[in-house]
Amino acid sequence: MNRVKVICDNGHTFYKSSNCRTCPTCEKKNKPTAGFLMSLAAPARRALEKAGINSIELLSQTSEAELLKLHGFGPTSIPKLRQELLKHNLDFKEIN
Ligand SMILES: [Zn+2]
Repeated sequence: MNRVKVICDNGHTFYKSSNCRTCPTCEKKNKPTAGFLMSLAAPARRALEKAGINSIELLSQTSEAELLKLHGFGPTSIPKLRQELLKHNLDFKEIN
């Protein structure tokens, strides 16, 4: 199969072997999930993914209590997530 050298709009060089022109480097960057989900243990990460919480913004719209209700999500993950939120000047949703 012919592999064609392609340079994406952001200047990354990659080789494509199909009609798909998606740049692998840009694709990775476009995933906002990576950062905060990677700091978690697998069960907690799966719990968030299952609940559709795949961005730091969505996480900030969720309260600690709501997170703890998720199957597989333990209290040890809360401080890790808070750290990630603080990096973005965010915090968990307040509950009154
Ligand atoms: Zn690129």
